[in-house]
Parts: sequence; structure tokens; C-alpha cells
Amino acid sequence: MPDAGGALIRECEEAVFSGEGIGAGQARRLMGVADSLLPELAAAADRITRGFNGDAVDVEQLNNIKRGACSEDCSFCGQSALYVRDPGAHGLPEPGEVAEAARRAREGGATSYCLVAAWRGPPTDAEFARVCEMVAGIAGMGMGVECSLGFILPRQAARLKELGVRRYNHNLETARSKFPEICSTHAYDDRLETLGIAREAGLELCTGGIIGMGETRAQRLELALELARLEPEEVALNILVPVEGTPLRLQAPLPDGEALRMFAAVRFMLPSSVVKISGGREAALGDEGRALLRGGANGIITAGYLTMGGNDPGRDAAMVREVGLSPGRGE
Ligand code: SF4
Repeated sequence: MPDAGGALIRECEEAVFSGEGIGAGQARRLMGVADSLLPELAAAADRITRGFNGDAVDVEQLNNIKRGACSEDCSFCGQSALYVRDPGAHGLPEPGEVAEAARRAREGGATSYCLVAAWRGPPTDAEFARVCEMVAGIAGMGMGVECSLGFILPRQAARLKELGVRRYNHNLETARSKFPEICSTHAYDDRLETLGIAREAGLELCTGGIIGMGETRAQRLELALELARLEPEEVALNILVPVEGTPLRLQAPLPDGEALRMFAAVRFMLPSSVVKISGGREAALGDEGRALLRGGANGIITAGYLTMGGNDPGRDAAMVREVGLSPGRGE
């Protein structure tokens, strides 16, 4: 039965386009197709992406409004004070500085803008008031405003919604079965609870994780199924870039094709969501994400990450056009 995998891909694609969707068993089999079928899997994921989302690629810029010195022990993270003494660590900037940075991002072609704070959360009242000032300063600029502020309280989530924040980001990081190896200072359920608070407040959800932390393919599927259950408007998938000083500094890279497998499978499970290549694109992928953008992804981060540089926005916009897509707002 040499075409069994091909038939599975076609059957799953039809199920997605019919609106029926795929189940956990089909997702597991898709994640396990032979390497020789990866081009077919990617092509089907691309058709689903285009069919449900058109040709727009959400181009997001991040602003790390509070960098480094985090109390938590996430073993991949260069912002944990347990592993890295970051000379660039800083507290919250003035809202005017953030507005200026956001304006430059808009002029550079960003379609989404995310304020990220490296702390456990929830923010203190003073910290939260400052963040609200920042949000108010950028809400009318024509970009989708997102926040990633760690754990938040229901009243804080409600206020962000009032101020015009579209989406709240809080990643699951990895599969539930892997999480205790990755973090001991908080629990998987704490993360799910925060997502529930954001959803309850009417915010859209952005959630995802990091692949390449030594998890098995079955654990990547476990993460993907959890993400699908949450039905987020956006999935943020990072590919680990080992950071000096962290427990994962020597982690071997993912085998070829595993990132594509994951992005494609997530696309089958969440046909309408923005599926964003959120980190590791330049450092961990030989083609800066081109294959993933034609294999299920429809979003990128441009102009650098939380503690790492990235591509110039002009270069990223050119890459998006080069693969036949167009920079545009992720809905
Ligand atoms: S991932 Fe977030 S919570 Fe964990 S150490 Fe880094 S900044 Fe802190």
C-alpha cells in the first residue's frame, strides 16, 4: 500500500474543507507520515491555509517591555534570572518610547504589535497601570495590539479588552507530559487558567510552544491536540534556539522535516487560525521560514525577538512576496 499515506492526506484535507475537521487519530497518523510524503503534506497544508486565510501573512513585531531577571525557571529561557545575568535587562519603559517604537514598526510594515513582559505575573497595580498607558498610546495605530504579560487577573484582562487589545499571548510551551522537565516554578494548569481568564474577558487567544526541546514526536502531537482543543485565533510555534547558560544550551537540533510536520499538522487541526513562526526562524531554519510559509504557517515575527536579533522588516517583507504571499494583517 505505497499510497496509504497519500490517501490519508487527501482524506484529511477533504475532511477539513468539508467543515467536519480531523480527529485525534487522523492527526496522529498525519504526524507520522513517511518522510517521502512531507512535500505532499506541506502542499495540502498550504491549500488549507490559502483556502481558509487567503494569501496574507501576519507580520508581527515584538516589544520586550520588561526584559530579563524573571523569577521562573523555564529551562529554555534566556530571561530567567536563575540561568542568565542579562546586561540588557531593564524595567518598564516610558509609554512615549513604546509609542515611538510602535510607530516605527507600523511604518516598517508590521501588521501586529505585541507588548511582552518577562515576569511571572500578575503585574502589580503600578506595573499594570503603566502597561495600560502603553496600550492606550498604540491602540489607534492600525495594527493588531497584543499583550503577553504572564499570569493576569480577570480585572486586568477585562481592562486590556476595554483598551483595544485584540489578543493575549500565553504559551503552553510544550506537552503537558513534558512540562515538568521544562519548568518547576509553575504548573501547566496555571498556564491554562490564564488562557481561560483571557478568553473569559473576550480577548482573542494566542498560544503555542517551543519545539525542539527534546520532546518526542508524540509529545509534539500532544501539544498540538491541546492547542486545537483551545481553538486559539493564533498559534505561536517557536523552534528552540539554545541559549548559553540555560539547561537546554546543548540541546541537539530537531531532525529535518520535524518542524514542517508540526506546522502542517497544526494547520490541519486549526484551519482558520494564524499559525506563526514565532522564534528560531532565522537561526534554526536554513531557509528563514520559506518552506513553512508554504506548508501551513501564515505569520512571522520580524525585526528581532525578545533577546535575539532578527531580520530587517524590509528583508522579511521581500521574502514573503518571494514565496508568492503578501504581508497583511492576521485576522
Ligand atoms: S518563559 Fe517567561 S516565565 Fe519562563 S523564565 Fe522566561 S520570561 Fe520567565
